[in-house]
Amino acid sequence: MVSEAGTELHTEQYNWAGNLRYAAAELREPTTVVELQELVAGASKLRALGSRHSFNRIADTSGVLVSLEHLAPAIDVDPDSLTVTVSGGTRYGTLAAELQRQGFALHNLASLPHISVAGAVATATHGSGDRNGNLATAVAGLEIVTADGGILTARRGDADFEGMVVSLGALGVVSSLILDIEPTFDVAQTVFDDLDWDRVLENFDDVTCSAYSVSLFTDWSGDRIAQAWLKSRTAGTDPEAKHTEFFGGSPATEPRHPIAGVPGTTCTQQFGVPGPWSDRLAHFRMEFTPSKGDELQSEYLVPREHAVEAIQAMRRLSHLVTPLLLVSEIRTMAADSLWLSPNYGTDGIGLHLTWRQDQPAVEAVLPVIEAELAPFGARPHWGKLFDGDAARLAPLYPRFADFKALAGRLDPEGKFRNGFLDRAVFGS
Ligand SMILES: Cc1cc2nc3c(=O)[nH]c(=O)nc-3n(C[C@H](O)[C@H](O)[C@H](O)COP(=O)(O)OP(=O)(O)OC[C@H]3O[C@@H](n4cnc5c(N)ncnc54)[C@H](O)[C@@H]3O)c2cc1C
Repeated sequence: MVSEAGTELHTEQYNWAGNLRYAAAELREPTTVVELQELVAGASKLRALGSRHSFNRIADTSGVLVSLEHLAPAIDVDPDSLTVTVSGGTRYGTLAAELQRQGFALHNLASLPHISVAGAVATATHGSGDRNGNLATAVAGLEIVTADGGILTARRGDADFEGMVVSLGALGVVSSLILDIEPTFDVAQTVFDDLDWDRVLENFDDVTCSAYSVSLFTDWSGDRIAQAWLKSRTAGTDPEAKHTEFFGGSPATEPRHPIAGVPGTTCTQQFGVPGPWSDRLAHFRMEFTPSKGDELQSEYLVPREHAVEAIQAMRRLSHLVTPLLLVSEIRTMAADSLWLSPNYGTDGIGLHLTWRQDQPAVEAVLPVIEAELAPFGARPHWGKLFDGDAARLAPLYPRFADFKALAGRLDPEGKFRNGFLDRAVFGS
């Protein structure tokens, strides 16, 4: 675990996975927005830190790291406009519980509820579902503390708003967000074991539209898929409840965890038992460590039209990938119009990899995967490990140059720039 600066550190802060120690000289935790504004105005280099769940140096800085963990969550529901205003550092688990208590819901959650709203939105974090945009698509408004310490507010429909949402932390510190909500709903989750790869690929659209949210778990080897997780809204039709067989798979008889050998008791309720969205849409329960902990992650978002070809490409790489894997997950997302969203302009699938924690070996295989997926226009998840740089990413995002221009206008001195942004966005 080596710091970017390679020098004595004062923050002693590691990311969640423990694979990197932030290079920041200082970690600050303001308790008010005014305090945050003063901090931002007074720093020469600064980055917002969420709940530290990213696997790369996207959140890092050589200056000051600012966590909003100690700002009040300030969850303010407006039932008339069906929106909630929430402080940026609030975790989805906290927000989901409060929304459910008041009879409301978000459209989706990621696999874990532990992540901060602003941090997840900044990297276009997503769950699954053919008709579900990623979590950033729920953002109806933002309040950003900009480089001079001023406050910029923007609403959906405003000029450049679609560039401000998936911000990678490059535009300022998002102090609060307005999110779309809807009346609460129930979800039933069923896991099927041991599906037939050929049948799934022949019927891929039928598989992914079988429920509100579908995830497939595989290690890419062999001719079977280990698990399918189907989350259905129970108020409407509930197709998977009728299945005793699902594309060659059979219903699990014990609670499942995506990673073989890890007890399913840390995961959300399965066996088709209906219950609140807030307790079913994530895979992992708030009160336990999500996933495994001792791991790394990468993910590539591929336009839907290339889904089956891209999956076949990953299966061909099994001899390289499988030995390094804990598990892989395949999900789907709806298209959006957020400039740096990996779902910009196209419905997509996510090819996610949870790696064993062997970073040199993982980093050696990433360029091979990226070369194999390049013909399909695969865009890497901003918060996970990837190899590509700005030269390779820019052609994948039609609004890439517009985002750089926006960052240049809002942060002319490069206060929020870091090594990650220089490599992956600004190309310098
Ligand atoms: C176990 C595990 C499971 C995961 N599952 C999923 C999944 O299901 N789907 C998925 O898409 N991803 C998943 N991820 C990845 C994760 O959602 C992203 O890395 C996300 O960005 C983490 O949010 P965070 O709050 O930890 O942000 P951090 O990692 O702390 O920061 C991420 C970025 O957000 C910026 N940021 C944070 N707060 C602010 C703010 N207030 N203002 C401006 N910028 C800010 C930071 O500067 C940085 O650029 C998973 C990660 C883990 C560890």
